[in-house]
Amino acid sequence: MTTDVLIIGGGPNGLLLACELALAGVRPVVLERLSERAGMPKANGLVGRIVQALDHRGLHERLSGGDRPPMRMPGFQFGALPLALSALEDNPMYVLPIPQRRLEELLEQRASELGVRIRRGHALTALSQTAELVTAEVKGPEGRYELTARFLVGADGGRSTVRKHCGIAFPGITDRGFVGRSGQVVIDPPVAVPGTGELEVPGVGRLRPATFTRTENGMFAFGMFQPGLYRVSAHEWAPTALEDSISMPLEELRDAVRRVLGAEVPMRAPDGEPAALRRSTGTNSRQAERYRDGRVFLVGDAAHVHAGIGGPGLNLGMQDVLNLGWKLAAAINGWAPEGLLDTYESERHPVGARVIMHTRAQLALTSPGANITALRELLGELLTDAGNVRHIAELMAGADVRYGGDSTHPMTGRWMPDLPLNTVTGPKRVAELMRGARPVLLTRTDPVAKGRTDRIDVIVTADAPAETVLIRPDGYVAWAGQNGDGLEHALRTWFGCPA
Ligand SMILES: Cc1cc2nc3c(=O)[nH]c(=O)nc-3n(C[C@H](O)[C@H](O)[C@H](O)COP(=O)(O)OP(=O)(O)OC[C@H]3O[C@@H](n4cnc5c(N)ncnc54)[C@H](O)[C@@H]3O)c2cc1C
Repeated sequence: MTTDVLIIGGGPNGLLLACELALAGVRPVVLERLSERAGMPKANGLVGRIVQALDHRGLHERLSGGDRPPMRMPGFQFGALPLALSALEDNPMYVLPIPQRRLEELLEQRASELGVRIRRGHALTALSQTAELVTAEVKGPEGRYELTARFLVGADGGRSTVRKHCGIAFPGITDRGFVGRSGQVVIDPPVAVPGTGELEVPGVGRLRPATFTRTENGMFAFGMFQPGLYRVSAHEWAPTALEDSISMPLEELRDAVRRVLGAEVPMRAPDGEPAALRRSTGTNSRQAERYRDGRVFLVGDAAHVHAGIGGPGLNLGMQDVLNLGWKLAAAINGWAPEGLLDTYESERHPVGARVIMHTRAQLALTSPGANITALRELLGELLTDAGNVRHIAELMAGADVRYGGDSTHPMTGRWMPDLPLNTVTGPKRVAELMRGARPVLLTRTDPVAKGRTDRIDVIVTADAPAETVLIRPDGYVAWAGQNGDGLEHALRTWFGCPA
């Protein structure tokens, strides 16, 4: 039997894509090479626009474990320089702290509720395609088999087998000029300041969690995720002959922290929790030349890898998924207008390029030397200006994204703000109208999209910020303005609606 969509990889991006497709009535199959979820800690949270985008699907409540709307960060860092965000009007820097393992568990739970099958222990080994079908060769617990699908999506991480089998180049740089060490450790008082998450390091001073400390030897960072339990990392600007490792001794981390800070931070292995000690010798900063090869698409780390500074990975990858999901579902459901699938790459490739740009810039800003120190001093002066802080914050949050569109209205192509609206069924936030991953048409006048409600949710509200606002399922405005020919054209272009 031919599957509609085969998703390779059950990481956060593969699982979110499965949810998106299932909401649109498509039943994908997910292949995940690992028979059990990996234990090694990765992301500690989500940063930027993706937090609001997950609120659109009702996932913010599930992931945050509460019913509070998305929260903003009062401050953040760019290249280990402070960004004062609380003074910004409409601060775009949202945050959702959650360990990646928990994020994946909850996304998998949601996908299962929506009827998605995840085959654990099944690895893609090769693929080929014709104009109509993709054939995947798979190695499962009971041996090798073939699967055919109308479309295949590579959500299989930075070393993507899908990307390699499609012959898609992955240009960029591998920077082996430093070594990073991290681990999960217990730090006791008095260095751990009770109740604050801060560290008081003799000879260095008080350090705040979730900030980077740059020194001439490297960079130190930490965060506290349970009382007394810290994730600590030390990056040193010195190439090493050592290899990457996920079983490094604790002394190695302790010594690296001492070299970076020039001071001792007493730490010990936790009881009953993994120490998750890891050494990585450099970083890749690369982007797939193309995000599409015929019936095959790449999302997330399979499409781009970059330094983790500022935590942009999931904001970028999960928004790739939200961009592709509804377009792929439209193709399967038979109403994708010509060229719609091509807009995935034309819209998302430039966004990935900007993340690579700002993470490289941040890495440069944290490197050692008097010239960099001077550059930091200058940039620090520029960051006392609210306009510059906004520019950087929007870049890091992905809030400066503007997709194309035919209308000159300033909202077209931009993220739809989460406005409160009075509707015939009562007061609603925009996010609450987006739960079903369907296009939404807000209109101040009579429904202008009569006969299209099978494909589009039409909401009549006097609070619409323009006479008509057509919102794509990924939360961006496809078109805004006065009803008329422009709207007709936008409905046809994006949603294949008959004239
Ligand atoms: C230490 C660390 C800290 C990080 N911190 C943050 C952070 O705080 N915030 C943030 O936003 N990002 C962070 N990131 C980045 C984030 O973890 C990645 O961007 C994210 O994991 C990418 O998700 P993905 O689904 O694209 O790929 P992955 O998470 O790599 O998942 C790919 C999946 O595909 C499976 N797979 C691979 N090959 C095959 C195959 N041939 N067949 C079947 N299955 C296959 C793999 O087993 C894996 O489960 C961090 C990364 C690291 C390493």
